[in-house]
Amino acid sequence: MIDHLPLGVFRHAGTTRCAARWGDDLIDLHEAGLLTAPTLREFLAAGSQTWSRVREELLNLVGQDSLSRFLVPLAEVELVLPFEVADYVDFYSSEHHAANVGKIFRPGQPPILPNWRHLPIGYHGRAGTVVTSGTPVVRPSGLLGADAVGPCRRLDIEAEVGFVVGVPSRMGVPVPVSDFAEHVFGVVLLNDWSARDIQAFEYQPLGPFLGKSFATSISPWITPLSALSAAWVPAPVQDPPVAGHLADDPHLGLDLRITVTWNGVEVSRPPFAQMYWTPAQQLAHMTSNGASLRTGDLFASGTVSGPDRDQVGSFLELTWGGAEPITLNGTGRTFLEDGDTVVLSARAPGPDGTIVELGTVSGTIVGR
Ligand code: CA
Repeated sequence: MIDHLPLGVFRHAGTTRCAARWGDDLIDLHEAGLLTAPTLREFLAAGSQTWSRVREELLNLVGQDSLSRFLVPLAEVELVLPFEVADYVDFYSSEHHAANVGKIFRPGQPPILPNWRHLPIGYHGRAGTVVTSGTPVVRPSGLLGADAVGPCRRLDIEAEVGFVVGVPSRMGVPVPVSDFAEHVFGVVLLNDWSARDIQAFEYQPLGPFLGKSFATSISPWITPLSALSAAWVPAPVQDPPVAGHLADDPHLGLDLRITVTWNGVEVSRPPFAQMYWTPAQQLAHMTSNGASLRTGDLFASGTVSGPDRDQVGSFLELTWGGAEPITLNGTGRTFLEDGDTVVLSARAPGPDGTIVELGTVSGTIVGR
């Protein structure tokens, strides 16, 4: 039951409006007089006082009889991208994922490169191809090696958590780790679809490009950080100690328990609490050179993988580079085939023993 009032945008009868999720319904925030603009942009940019005020009004509304006047069944609407993505950055902050990928892509070499423990590694992704849950993902084609061009044969997922920036920052002025909650409104689940064969041939020395940029899916509901206040837990101890501008005290991550479902079968449960670099450190790092934030910036955690095989956030790791197929509905499988559907869901501890269930992100592969 998704009842922590995440925010999104829906289309219905030719109009676009902001909404809050309430179980199998949404609350039409235009009808309720809470958010009357057709996008969340103005609200996201307004900052924490406005975020708190609107949330309090929403929490008040759901306790009143008048709520029913503003409810619309989810089945009657189309959910659209919840915000216009400004810049999109993707990090690489799971130690287990980085070690696994290092072993698979660079066998015989140290799996974690020397700089990895000193800064959260990241790259700039493609904002214009971030799509909402349910959008079909067309199998990319490209250079798969020196003599091979064609459709990707090793199409994969990456289970991640995305952070949505509301309040912009000034160019030239770094955002300190302590200002994280002043800029970041909330989180989405994110699937960073990855073409492993394209990626493996192109990624050195500048990093991911066409192996990633064809599609990134996010959940249609943004969970406000204020709904996750009970989910902060100590993040893994960092050794060696990090540079001063990356030192966050307290050093906290979010206890989001992700589930990866492939064609209806649960195949993995990545634990977000085990991420080595925290979202506050990621935000501080990406602005530490003076790069500014814009409303709608999206930064993703990087693939979430735990230490065990059934906790990994990619099929590259789940099948160890395709060498160890898993059995799915009676068939041995490695990477994604046309028609496959992957759904990411997540739960987190809520206040007073409750559970916060995040909005899911789903995508189905189609051939070209
Ligand atoms: Ca990624």
